Amino acid sequence: MLTQGKLIVLSGPGGVGKSTIVSELKKRDHFYFSVSATTRKPRNGEEDGVAYHFVTPEVFQKMVENDVFLEWADFAGSRYGTPRQPVLDALAAGKDVLLEIEIDGARQVKRAMPHAVMVFLQPPSMSELESRITNRGTDSPERIAARLALARAEMAAAAEFDHILVNHRVEEVIDSLVSLAAS
Ligand code: 5GP
Repeated sequence: MLTQGKLIVLSGPGGVGKSTIVSELKKRDHFYFSVSATTRKPRNGEEDGVAYHFVTPEVFQKMVENDVFLEWADFAGSRYGTPRQPVLDALAAGKDVLLEIEIDGARQVKRAMPHAVMVFLQPPSMSELESRITNRGTDSPERIAARLALARAEMAAAAEFDHILVNHRVEEVIDSLVSLAAS
């Protein structure tokens, strides 16, 4: 019989660098990556069905009502959710799955799937996080202010997680995630 894969939830404040970790991890070809649905608009270079499934608020709401999501959350004025079935299918096929999601959603996954390995990615310092969010260059000043306030609140959630990884070097974080999946 095939062993179930491991579910790793990578969370942490917005702007900490989770998506950089994920794009580097994709080159290692270890994890199955869930493609989330979101109501936010695509940024430059983001492809529908690859970065996200970009949907309207109406479609997202229908997905909520049809219980499509393993978890979903409101984040900085948009909605984000993880479709449940592809995750369950990948785990059943013995693949390790990595979800890169914000903290509210991470809490929901832990409740729904208590075996999930919960990882909190921490910035090397608060000021580094603030400059990353401010210098992203794609968001409006209002959105930047909202993201900063949110990130400060999100930092307090670290204690709820099984593992804390400090994002000093991308390669180190990647190695730790792969070893967590293997352990
Ligand atoms: P961004 O808009 O920068 O791509 O993502 C904003 C935040 O939403 C990030 O913290 C990211 O981890 C989170 N996120 C992405 N997909 C999901 C999801 O499916 N569920 C939840 N809860 N958060 C998500």
